[in-house]
Amino acid sequence: RSKDAGGGVFHAYEPQLHVEAEERRVLEIALRSALKNDQFHLQYQPVVEAGSGALKGFEALLRWTHPEYGNIPPSKFVPLAEDARLIAPIGEWVLRTACHEAARWNDSTRIAVNVSPEQLHNPNFFNLVTQTLAQSGLHPDRLELEVTESVFMHEGTCAVQVLDKLIDLGIRLSLDDFGTGYSSLGYLSRTRFSTIKIDRSFVQGASKNEREAVAIIRAVVALAQSLGMGTTAEGVETEEEHQMIQQLGCTKVQGYYFGRPLPVGEARALAQRHGRDSAAA
Ligand code: C2E
Ligand code: MG
Ligand code: MG
Ligand code: MG
Repeated sequence: RSKDAGGGVFHAYEPQLHVEAEERRVLEIALRSALKNDQFHLQYQPVVEAGSGALKGFEALLRWTHPEYGNIPPSKFVPLAEDARLIAPIGEWVLRTACHEAARWNDSTRIAVNVSPEQLHNPNFFNLVTQTLAQSGLHPDRLELEVTESVFMHEGTCAVQVLDKLIDLGIRLSLDDFGTGYSSLGYLSRTRFSTIKIDRSFVQGASKNEREAVAIIRAVVALAQSLGMGTTAEGVETEEEHQMIQQLGCTKVQGYYFGRPLPVGEARALAQRHGRDSAAA
């Protein structure tokens, strides 16, 4: 569009840039008081075993409802919180809330929590996790932390050491959105991930028969297997996608086909039903 505008390039997108900057400014101010005003809650999306569909756990997903602006998606406010250095207190709230809620559900379903790079670069993160586990009573092997490749982009020694200590406690680590960021295979073999999460863009591509997407999923599954890790396919929406993902050898699936992110009460009911079923089996 700006090309068509010829000489008026700057005029063509300056107002747009202005709107975005203004929106960010307004949201950032609102975000600063969101925690104290109780505007956050979590939803929990089921993660199931590929094939059987058996419940394995839930991923906690942060939701922000502003009294005036309504629901703001995390794709919009999480990057903003990261830039404004608000992600540490928000992330701490997410971890505490998820662990306290999940500890009361049953004794087996796992709870996955997304962690931003900045949280991991804080040496205190380890203490936060151990304290939260102790206070909530959640067993360490029920907690999974999801990190993205970007954690390893910055001078990563601190993050890597923290992750190592957490894994020694029995916590699981998964690599989120794999393939969408800056990928270096070195850290994959050096870090003890239990699962690689394959981004929805590849699942979608593969379901449209895009050969590159299929090839990438195959390669990631093979790589994960050879490193002793599992694979979770993200964003599976149809039975066809589930079948394809299963044929490609992914071990777990997550997506609207198996369940949307649920309010805490529904997640608890599902977890408790599952707990009873597996105890009876
Ligand atoms: P993510 O960690 O990759 O989470 C998966 C996202 O895919 C979620 O979006 C989920 O609702 C969505 N999803 C799941 N199944 C399907 C499907 O079948 N189809 C489609 N179209 N989407 C599906 P959501 O909740 O909007 O979160 C977006 C991203 O925001 C997350 O991506 C994560 O990067 C970030 N995020 C969410 N909660 C937190 C949090 O507590 N802390 C941090 N640091 N980031 C978070
Ligand atoms: Mg995630
Ligand atoms: Mg993901
Ligand atoms: Mg994703």
